[in-house]
Amino acid sequence: MKVFINPGHHVILDSGAVNPVTGDREVDVVIECAKLVEKYLLAAGVDCTVGQYNELYEICDASNAYDADLFVSIHCNACASHQARGTETYYKSFNGQRFANYIQSQIIRSLPVTDRGVKEGNLYVLKHTEAVAVLVELAFIDNPEDLALLKNRIDDFARAIARGVTDYEIA
Ligand SMILES: [Zn+2]
Repeated sequence: MKVFINPGHHVILDSGAVNPVTGDREVDVVIECAKLVEKYLLAAGVDCTVGQYNELYEICDASNAYDADLFVSIHCNACASHQARGTETYYKSFNGQRFANYIQSQIIRSLPVTDRGVKEGNLYVLKHTEAVAVLVELAFIDNPEDLALLKNRIDDFARAIARGVTDYEIA
């Protein structure tokens, strides 16, 4: 089992969503999370790698070249009102839905986040990766309560994602 972990966006070229008050950037949060997921998966004996690229096709090419069985793209959400909160996980395929359910359940179980559910999404990285693929939106970086979770409990998000991977692997 090989897992490709993709923190969304790009440190220099694309910050992703930004909290308008604090300046916290999605790209920094998701890199930290991805590195922790890698650490926990390696500790569990799961082969994995972290890859971040500015272009969506580069992400897919890298995952496919790695011959990944599972693909996880990690993002933070944002919303014009700055009021929205919660976690949601996107999938495209049948097995992707199963994988998304494991990750979503683990996050909901370990953190006081709003459960926005798993959703089918026609997203580029889900369509063009050969692996069973999901995209998880950890929480809303532009909401103060969600941002506090992202800053103070990113380790719990990462552990939950890693457990979602091993749940899928075992099932
Ligand atoms: Zn994003």
